[in-house]
Amino acid sequence: MKYAGYIVCMIGTPSIPRPAPELPGTPRIEQPAPGVFVRIAVDVMGWVDMGSWLLVVDALEQPELAEGVFRSMAESAGADKPPRIILNTHLHPDHTALNAAFAGTFGARIVNARTALPPPEGRTFTGDNGRRVQFIPLPGCHTEEDCIAWLPDDRVLFAGDLFNWGLIPWDRPLDAAKYALLTKTYRRLIAFGAETVVAGHGPAATTAELRHQLAYYEELPNAVRRALADGCSETEIVDGGAIPPPDEMRDWWRFTLWKHRDSLKKVCRAIRLGRL
Ligand SMILES: [Zn+2]
Repeated sequence: MKYAGYIVCMIGTPSIPRPAPELPGTPRIEQPAPGVFVRIAVDVMGWVDMGSWLLVVDALEQPELAEGVFRSMAESAGADKPPRIILNTHLHPDHTALNAAFAGTFGARIVNARTALPPPEGRTFTGDNGRRVQFIPLPGCHTEEDCIAWLPDDRVLFAGDLFNWGLIPWDRPLDAAKYALLTKTYRRLIAFGAETVVAGHGPAATTAELRHQLAYYEELPNAVRRALADGCSETEIVDGGAIPPPDEMRDWWRFTLWKHRDSLKKVCRAIRLGRL
């Protein structure tokens, strides 16, 4: 996307964060490929039919959801398939809360960057139905322990919090090296050619959204530099609408609500400090 021609320095009403809207119709179970189930809600998890057992990706934030999740798994995949492997895309508490219940109830093995760091090329789990799930480390963009789960036979990518509908996933100050890692990581995510990209939070996406996201990341520092060169203040850029959200991302979940502003703020700060 291009911002050229969009830069207008003006102070509008500062955007005050408002309560996030509900995701209508959630939690709901989607099936992006036969035997691949995704529980869509604010916190997302999935389970994959590996023949006689299930592989689970991520484990929500609220331990009290365990029984309901176990029921959904039995209803969708079959009651005779116990979860055996639990992959955590990273170790944030909103991705790991059901680990203890999976381990305690089913004796499932918890696999993440701390318990069993996969080698750089990833580790492949193969079901007795032949289905493959590759667990691959892609660290440094959200946490130092980021991993993704790729199902090559199903073209489904569990991206964890690397993709969060317009958010720059790094919460600490940005610099040029971190930004370069972010765009490089996105090129790797795009190269999988996933038909379904499961986000860590909110609706599922596709590779098209990953491309929009990468273009946004690539263009944002240029747009901010142009706006600063045109005399816009940081307030005008972050709060005043000097750099509007790209059209193709306006409807993204919570993007115009607060994520675009958050991205502008992070990039503005890094440029102002001479780090980007
Ligand atoms: Zn996270």
